[in-house]
Amino acid sequence: MSRIESARLRWEDGVPVAEAFDDFYFNTDGGIEESQHVFLAGNQLEQRFQALASRQTFVIGETGFGTGLNFFTARKLWLSCAPADAQLHYLAFEKYPLSLTDMEILLQRWPDITDCQSSFLQQYPPRQQGFHSLFFDQGRVQLTLIIGDALEQLPQLRANVDAWFLDGFSPDKNPDMWQPALFQQLAANSRPGSTLATFTVARQVREGLQQAGFSLSKRSGFGRKREMLCGQLRDAPLQSPLEPPSQPQTLSQPSAPVPQHLIVVGAGLAGASTARALAEQGISVTLLEAGPEPAQQGSGNAQGALYAKLAVKPTYESAFHLQGLLFSANQLRQLPDTDPPLASLCGVLQLAIQPKDAKRQEQLLSEGHYADSLFRAVSAEQASALAGTQVGYPGLFFPHAGWVAPADYCRYLLDHPAIECHFNQPVQQLIADADHSHWTVKTPQGCFSAAKVIICTAADTRQLDVLAHLPVKPIRGQTSLVQASVSLPELHTVVCGEGYISPARKAHYCFGATFDLHYANTELRDSDHQKNLNTLAAALPAFETLTPADCDGRTGFRCSTPDYLPMVGQVADYDATVELFAPLRTDSRRLSDQPVPRLAGLYVNTGHGSKGLITCPISAALLTAEICGTPAPLAKDLAARLDPARFILRDLIRRRI
Ligand code: SAM
Repeated sequence: MSRIESARLRWEDGVPVAEAFDDFYFNTDGGIEESQHVFLAGNQLEQRFQALASRQTFVIGETGFGTGLNFFTARKLWLSCAPADAQLHYLAFEKYPLSLTDMEILLQRWPDITDCQSSFLQQYPPRQQGFHSLFFDQGRVQLTLIIGDALEQLPQLRANVDAWFLDGFSPDKNPDMWQPALFQQLAANSRPGSTLATFTVARQVREGLQQAGFSLSKRSGFGRKREMLCGQLRDAPLQSPLEPPSQPQTLSQPSAPVPQHLIVVGAGLAGASTARALAEQGISVTLLEAGPEPAQQGSGNAQGALYAKLAVKPTYESAFHLQGLLFSANQLRQLPDTDPPLASLCGVLQLAIQPKDAKRQEQLLSEGHYADSLFRAVSAEQASALAGTQVGYPGLFFPHAGWVAPADYCRYLLDHPAIECHFNQPVQQLIADADHSHWTVKTPQGCFSAAKVIICTAADTRQLDVLAHLPVKPIRGQTSLVQASVSLPELHTVVCGEGYISPARKAHYCFGATFDLHYANTELRDSDHQKNLNTLAAALPAFETLTPADCDGRTGFRCSTPDYLPMVGQVADYDATVELFAPLRTDSRRLSDQPVPRLAGLYVNTGHGSKGLITCPISAALLTAEICGTPAPLAKDLAARLDPARFILRDLIRRRI
């Protein structure tokens, strides 16, 4: 996930032109009208939106997001005629995203369709390659902006697109966007009967699309363009090529039916995020939690820092954390205003306390893998001004990061009409029907059953027989809580050094946390408060008067995995996987081309360590996409790194099993 160049624009007749391609972003005769004629009418979207049933998801894919004009016209049409509980998922690729300033200028010229512009601009991603999710209209519209070359990124997509907008500059100015390989990828990510529309009728485009499986028809073009192209993937009832486009009932099948009901076990951040994401797809969720209320374990702290520690050279882990941070931040931007707030994107100062931290930060800045807007260097004086108190070290300031009150946030997530919470229900047994079509979850109070069950019980996951092989480990952490008395400064940002502290909430400062691999007792320890106080005073001298006697707090257990990435997805059938992949014991390259055998209907979302605030929401969205067949929020290669089966294969290679 590396940094990407912005588009460089010049203006001609009031229309932006991309310097790199010497071509217009939209028609000089009228951008909105062109978008409506070519892309919306060309895919018959009005009729198709109207014909959708309640709760369906409709997916549009676009090659070349540019100014977002097509997104805004499609959203406007969607809001005017689609069922109020259906969801538009708009995916778009963009190799050279417009700068925020250019976007701001452009959006002002279309006030009729950009009533969501302030939300859009707030959520607009940094110039960083990868998948970026933006949320609009109380969940009715979601935009996944995939930054990077469409040809490279398309194989990373997992989606069932209903309608494609092909809008990547003219084929003679940008042949890369009109290649057979790209068209094949469009077909691979299409629902049967998916349609497409484009302004060009160039021969290589027609031939490439036809070879990829689309049948095509010409229509009259917009403005001075005589013709344009419509197409349909041929699996659906066919019209002969170059006939007028088909009627709505012959167009793409709507989303695959999603399960009506399922069970989520665990009401920490992983469970609450998963239950909420599923409920928002219209699924009724039975949530089972061992404790008397949500967030009793690792997610129960008063506050936690929302930030990602980035690797100098981007790794999969760091790319996942960065995308997770941006995903969480955009979701938190949708929260209602509450008093006290559930979260704040007040910014995070990451101090360089040790020489090795300073070196790492210098490298982060000099190696240039990250977009400038993600963080900036600050001196100790600048850090002090941002924090609102004296800070003894320079560092990096992350303006899009902040804090979340995880326990209250879990309660908020679970407060949804489609989620039914059952507390004091420790799961004792998980029993599958003979054909794995149904699972029964047994607790001391009774039995619950569903075709799909998602286990989100952190390190307790191993207590269930079929999950005993998952290598999760609890790590004790104690946080400290002190009253925000007048003698303490008023912090304005989160400050992270060796530990972290957030601005006061509910008149208390929350800071921590200790890291203890061996001690498993939940009792608060003064020695741990003292450790937290020492770390805090090293970063912020104004807090050095505090003693353990001033501290309250809590202990929680982070649930960690050997590679520090969570486990998200369908559970492997352990015995069958070991048998099938046994040759790995003698030759690590002998990966069977068979897929890993899975336990149908059983999923996990666990192992988030201390990073649950940035990893749980995106992981919940990934699982939901897998279960509901909606577009995944992460590239395939990143999602594969989260596969719960990975440790079985690793252990075979290392001959541990
Ligand atoms: N649909 C856009 C709108 O509504 O403003 C106009 C798109 S403009 C005609 C074409 C876009 O494709 C540009 O933003 C350009 O940067 C992008 N693009 C060009 N080559 C690309 C590639 N290989 N991968 C992804 N995007 C590309």
